[in-house]
Amino acid sequence: MSGATISTDVVIIGAGPTGLFAAFQCSMLKINCLLVDALDEIGGQCVALYPEKPIYDIPACPAIEGAQLIEKLAEQIEPFAIEKLLGRRVESLSGQSGAFHLVTSKGDTIEAKAVIIAAGAGAFGPNRPPLDGLTDYETSGAVRYSVRRKADFEGKSLVIAGGGDSAIDWALSLSHVAKKIYLVHRRDKFRAAPESLHQLEEAIARGVVEKITPYQLSGLQGDGATLSGVEVATLAGEKRVLEAEHLLAFFGLATDLGPIAQWGIDQTRSTIPVVPSTCQTSMPGVFAIGDIASYPGKLKLILQGFSEAAMASHAIYAIVNPNQALHFEYSTSKGVPGAA
Ligand code: FAD
Repeated sequence: MSGATISTDVVIIGAGPTGLFAAFQCSMLKINCLLVDALDEIGGQCVALYPEKPIYDIPACPAIEGAQLIEKLAEQIEPFAIEKLLGRRVESLSGQSGAFHLVTSKGDTIEAKAVIIAAGAGAFGPNRPPLDGLTDYETSGAVRYSVRRKADFEGKSLVIAGGGDSAIDWALSLSHVAKKIYLVHRRDKFRAAPESLHQLEEAIARGVVEKITPYQLSGLQGDGATLSGVEVATLAGEKRVLEAEHLLAFFGLATDLGPIAQWGIDQTRSTIPVVPSTCQTSMPGVFAIGDIASYPGKLKLILQGFSEAAMASHAIYAIVNPNQALHFEYSTSKGVPGAA
């Protein structure tokens, strides 16, 4: 397997919101960078898990959908023509500060002076229910773990499984397009914001949503591609079949650092501890930002990842330019290429 051979100042592992903003920050400091992501498109969780959901806590954006935020971040880095390697995971990291060597799952080799790990939940993937024939229905799109287009569920009967915010939020949001939603949870109580629970009661009163508790998923019915029903059962063995064309399961994200766990960097519970002022990890020259980075008081919020991207990029300047002091300048003074 032979891929590209690329030499750059900084390799950014992960093209989610924080990786994209790190690319902007590096570029503003005239640090060359390369973005690598395991997924086929940029955007991380925002695009893969909630492209049409509005985010309300991005500064200066009263409401912006996940995919729209990523479009804006992509637009912000466009003037810098940053190279991206998508659809490939970074598998290995060796070397030291100033001279790192990385290899991707497609055989690309990358030489970089510093590394920013913006890998979110690491090897990205939803927790999947242990059901027979699941993979076939995942392939056909009958079973899903995220909603990319609400219109896909127009007039359909759905089973939504899960007891947290995502399950409730999607039940509420899809209650305006779907014909019927069965909300399955193994406990009677849901873990969601009081306002969401109040809205859920209203959706139940409208007859669109039906609570199926305390039940767990136990099987799938259909021809292996088209789903006709979802089997559920109580712990006591009481069974029901819910007529549905789709199962949407929201059991959280599997947090596994994947290959990153083998790189010799200190880790705590699937996160990488960093020095908060620089975001440097236990390995000099390797920085971590966004959901994967941890320190006391850390909030797993996009806005915090943006700030970490700025701090890491400024700290990296000294590695890329060892004999040059960084003269701090506002973006209003520096401008960006092509701006008036
Ligand atoms: P991610 O978005 O997780 O991106 C990481 C990327 O790294 C992925 O694309 C992955 O494929 C890639 N990657 C991982 N390992 C490798 C590897 N070895 N090689 C190559 N690529 C790799 N946050 C808010 O601030 N406000 C909200 O309202 C909000 N709502 C949310 C709603 C939902 C339903 C969810 C799931 C999350 C929400 N979040 C919200 C959280 C927010 O999406 C995350 O904090 C944010 O996406 C983290 O960004 P990131 O760039 O650190 O990581």
